[in-house]
Amino acid sequence: MGSEFHQLSNEVSAPYEFPQFPIEQIESKLLTVQKEKGGPAALPREPSIGIGAELEDDDIDQFVPHFQRVNITGDDNSGAATEDLQSASKLLIQALTVRDKYMRISRQKFPANVDRFLSSLSGKPADEVHLLDKATIEDHPIHPPKVGDPWECEFLPNNGYELKCVQGVFSVYEKPNGPKKNFPVPNLETFVTDMQHMCTLIADGPLKSFCYRRLSYMSSKFQIHVLLNELRELAAQKAVPHRDFYNVRKVDTHIHAASCMNQKHLLRFIKKTLKTDGEEMVTKVKEKVPNGKTDMTLRDVFESMNLTAYDLTVDMLDVHADRNTFHRFDKFNAKYNPIGESRLREVFMKTDNHIGGKYFAKLIKEVFFDLEDSKYQNLELRLSIYGRSPDEWDKLAEWAITNDVYSDNVRWLIQVPRLYDIYRANSCVENFQEILENLFKPLFEVTVDPSSHPALHRFLQYVIGFDSVDDESKPENPMFDETVQTPDEWSDRENPPYSYYLYYMFANITVLNHFREERGLNTFVFRPHCGEAGSVQHLVAAFIMCESISHGLLLRKVPVLQYLYYLCQIGIAMSPLSNNSLFLNYNRSPLPDYLARGLNVSLSTDDPLQFHFTKEPLMEEYSIAAQVWKLSSCDMCELARNSVITSGFSHHVKQHWLGPNYTRDGVAGNDMTRTNVPDIRVSYRYETLLSELSTVFGDHLNASLEDEAT
Ligand SMILES: [Zn+2]
Repeated sequence: MGSEFHQLSNEVSAPYEFPQFPIEQIESKLLTVQKEKGGPAALPREPSIGIGAELEDDDIDQFVPHFQRVNITGDDNSGAATEDLQSASKLLIQALTVRDKYMRISRQKFPANVDRFLSSLSGKPADEVHLLDKATIEDHPIHPPKVGDPWECEFLPNNGYELKCVQGVFSVYEKPNGPKKNFPVPNLETFVTDMQHMCTLIADGPLKSFCYRRLSYMSSKFQIHVLLNELRELAAQKAVPHRDFYNVRKVDTHIHAASCMNQKHLLRFIKKTLKTDGEEMVTKVKEKVPNGKTDMTLRDVFESMNLTAYDLTVDMLDVHADRNTFHRFDKFNAKYNPIGESRLREVFMKTDNHIGGKYFAKLIKEVFFDLEDSKYQNLELRLSIYGRSPDEWDKLAEWAITNDVYSDNVRWLIQVPRLYDIYRANSCVENFQEILENLFKPLFEVTVDPSSHPALHRFLQYVIGFDSVDDESKPENPMFDETVQTPDEWSDRENPPYSYYLYYMFANITVLNHFREERGLNTFVFRPHCGEAGSVQHLVAAFIMCESISHGLLLRKVPVLQYLYYLCQIGIAMSPLSNNSLFLNYNRSPLPDYLARGLNVSLSTDDPLQFHFTKEPLMEEYSIAAQVWKLSSCDMCELARNSVITSGFSHHVKQHWLGPNYTRDGVAGNDMTRTNVPDIRVSYRYETLLSELSTVFGDHLNASLEDEAT
C-alpha cells in the first residue's frame, strides 16, 4: 500500500473491515489520491477472478459498480484441508462435466462461465460470447411488438423420413431401410453409470462437509453484503425513473392450467354458465337419468345434485387446500373436483370432453384477459398429455386453435403424469413403451411432415417443454441398473421409478430436439416437478438431465446437490404457499436460504384455485414472501428477474424484457431500466459465483496450466 494511503483514515482494502465513514467519502478520497498519482482511476474490483474470455472482454471495466465488497484474502481461504479441497473439487468437476454432457447433447442451456472453466481444463475452446450493442430502452422498448395471427406459420415439405421406436427410444431414418440419422443419445447403460456415480458422489463425507461449509459461507457473506450495501442498492433503485417492482416483468414459472383461476372466479363462471347455457348438452351418462335421457344438460347435472345457481358458494365448491391436505396428496388431488363431483371437473376443466373443452377455453381466456390487463405478469401453464392414446396431441392442439386460446403473456408446458400403473390396471396400455409412443410419435410425425398434423404444428410454436408430474412421495425403488426391463418389456403392474420416467422422456426429447433443430423448428426443454417429496435420487436425475425444476425442497437436506445446483444456476421454481398446504410449513421453507446463497430461484403459484384468494395470485405469492421473510424491493426484483431468465419465453422477447445483452455475464447483462435490479446486486452475485468456481477449479486449473507450460 502506497504512502499516500496513510493520509486516509480508513484502509479500504483490508479484509472484513467495516468502514467507519460512508463509502462515498472513502471512494472520493481514493479517486483524489489516484488522480494525484497521475494514473488512470482504477475501479475497485475483486482481484484474480475470471479467466479466459473474461479477461479479453476489454469493455468489462465499464461495468464494475462501486460498492463495499466482502473479501477473503490469503492463499488457503476455502476453510477445508488441502487434501479435502483437492478431492472435493475433483468430484465437483466430475459432476459438472456430467451435466455439461447431457445439456449439450439435448440442446438445453448450460451456463457459459462454467463451460469456460471446464473448457480451460480440457484445453478445448469455449463457445464464443456474442456481444451486442447496448441499446437503450428508447430504441428497444420493454414491450415486444405484438404478433399478428398467432396461428400463422410456415409449413415445411414432407422430408419422407422413417421413424422407429426401439426399446422406448425413437430413431429417425433418412429413407425406408436407409441409414439411421446420427442423433446422439446417452444409452441406458451410460445413464445408469452416471446416475450411480452421482449417487456415490453426493454421499462422500469430505465433499458433504466442503459443500456445507461453502453454502454456510455464502449465506453469511450475503448477510454482510446486505448490511454494507442495502442503502446503496435502494438508492440505485430510486435513481431509476419509471421502473419499480410492479412494472418489472415476472413469469409464473410453475402453474397448472386446470387450476390457474382462483376459486371465486371459478364459482362466478359456473353460475354465469348455468344461467346462459343451462340447456346445453354437456355430458353423456352410462346409466339412464330419471327422465330417460342419456345426454345431460348443464341444468340436469345440477339438478342431479339438488343444486341451483343461487345456492352455490365458495364453501360448497370446496376446492381450496386446507389443513386436511397436509401430507395427503390423495386428498389434495380430490380438491380438483368442484363440489367433490368429477363430472363438474370434466365439464369445466378438461380440454377433451363432450363440448370440446369450450368452457375450459372460455375460463382460461378470462384469466388471460386479466393477465394482459396487468401487463407485466406472464404464465407458463401446464397442460396434460397422458399417453393413453395416440390422438391426445391432435385433440389438444385442435382445442387451442378452434377456441383461439392464445396470449402473448402465456407459453405452454406439457405435463405428463406418471400413471403407468393405473393405465395398466385398467388395460389402457400393455407396456410402458405404448405410453412413450403415444407421447412422442405424433411429435416426430409432425416434424417429418407438418401437414400430417397441421393443428399440432401450429400449436407447438408455443410449447416450450415438458414437465413430469405426480405424487413424488409414493413408495418406489429409486435405483435400477442396466439389467432393468426396457420399456417394451415393462409390462408388469408396478409403476416404473421416477428416474426411469425421466430418462426415457429425456432420451426421446433429445432425439426430437436434434431432429427439429435440423429442420429449423423450435426445440423443447425438460423441467419436471422434482424434490417436492420422496427420494433425493429424483434431484440427482434432474441434475443430470433437466434444464430446471419445480419445488426443489429436498435440496435443503443434500448440501452437495444444493451446491451443484448453485454452480450450474439451475432454475428452481418454488411455491411456498403450495408447500405450506402439502409438504412443508411456510416458516420452514428453504427459499430465503436459497435466495441468500444465490441459487437461481423464482416464485410461482402452482395452483391458484387451491391456494390463493385474489385475482393476482402471483402478486399474492410475492406479497406473502416479502412480508414473512422481510424481503427488500431489491430481493423481489431479483426474484422477478430470475423468473424471466428461467422461463421459456423466446430469446427475442427476453431481450425486450431484460435488455438486449441479458445473456452476458454479470453487470454487462443487466439493464436496470428494465429489471430494476441494482448493478450492485448483480455484480455481487456474479463475483461470488466466479470466486466459488475459482475455489473449485483453482488447483486443477493451475495443474493443467503447468502441464501446458511443460
Ligand atoms: Zn405443480
